[in-house]
Parts: sequence; structure tokens; C-alpha cells
Amino acid sequence: MWMETNSPEETFALGEQLGNEAEAGEIYCLNGDLGTGKTVFTQGFARGLGIEGPVNSPTFTILQQYEEGRLPLYHFDVYRIGDVEEMEEIGYEDCFYGDGVCLIEWSSLIEEILPKHVIEITIEKNMDKGFDYRKITVEGKK
Ligand code: ADP
Ligand code: MG
Repeated sequence: MWMETNSPEETFALGEQLGNEAEAGEIYCLNGDLGTGKTVFTQGFARGLGIEGPVNSPTFTILQQYEEGRLPLYHFDVYRIGDVEEMEEIGYEDCFYGDGVCLIEWSSLIEEILPKHVIEITIEKNMDKGFDYRKITVEGKK
């Protein structure tokens, strides 16, 4: 399925809806250019899981973990990763194959370690439709 948003609030709301419906063991892969709204989506998603505190991109740590929601949330941002070995160092397998939900910004950079079944979220701009327009595609959510 895909939908269109025209403001950060709408993208947040879509994230919130998916966060509400998220199930343990799911891995959400977020891709799209810098500044398309992956983090905005993630913030809504976290809210949907019942996480109240601030959620920001874990740019320098790769992984940020939130335990206060309905399910544990593992938020990865692998934009600056050099090698997938860094994922091993932070123990990603416990997150991918654990009881929580993973959300990975820039997952295409770690394709080789992703499980076969993931939920793909792709965010695209289209300047012809306005500066705040985003097309958001969700694939693989049952
Ligand atoms: P990313 O994590 O993909 O690099 P961010 O979520 O950090 O991007 O930033 C997205 C930026 O785009 C924010 O400044 C946000 O206010 C702006 N924006 C404008 N329109 C939208 C929209 N429809 N959805 C999401 N963000 C939007
Ligand atoms: Mg981001």
C-alpha cells in the first residue's frame, strides 16, 4: 500500500498508526533520501508504541533502545556505518530476533544481514507536488 502526506504531522500520524499495530518480532526498514522524513515517521511510530519521551536519530550510536512502550523499540540509523561488522559489535541479532520491534533507517546499507521477511517503508519526495509532499510506500506488512 502507499499513501501521500503533505506535512510532517501527517507522516507522524502514519507512523503512529503503524506503531499502534506493530507486533513483536517485526523489522521495519526505512529508506528514502536525507530529509524525507524517516525520523519523523519513527517518532510517530514510537508514540504509537506508547513511548512518550523524545526520539531522535541515533546518528552517532547507530542504535537507540526504548523500553517504556508496549514493546521494546530498537531504533537503528545506519547512515554512517562503515561495515556490517559494526552491527555485530552492537549485538544486532538480539534485536532482530528478540521480542521487540526494530526500525532501521537506511537499511539498504546493511542488506546482507537483513532477514528475508522485513517490512519496507520507502519515503519519496516529488517536488512537482510541493515541498512538503511525500509518497510513503509500505510493503510486507501482513
Ligand atoms: P530523515 O530522517 O529522512 O533524514 P527527517 O525526518 O529528519 O528526515 O526530516 C524530515 C524533514 O522534512 C523535517 O524537517 C520535516 O519537518 C520536513 N517535512 C516536510 N514535509 C514533510 C512530510 N510530509 N513528512 C515528513 N517530513 C516532512
Ligand atoms: Mg533520520
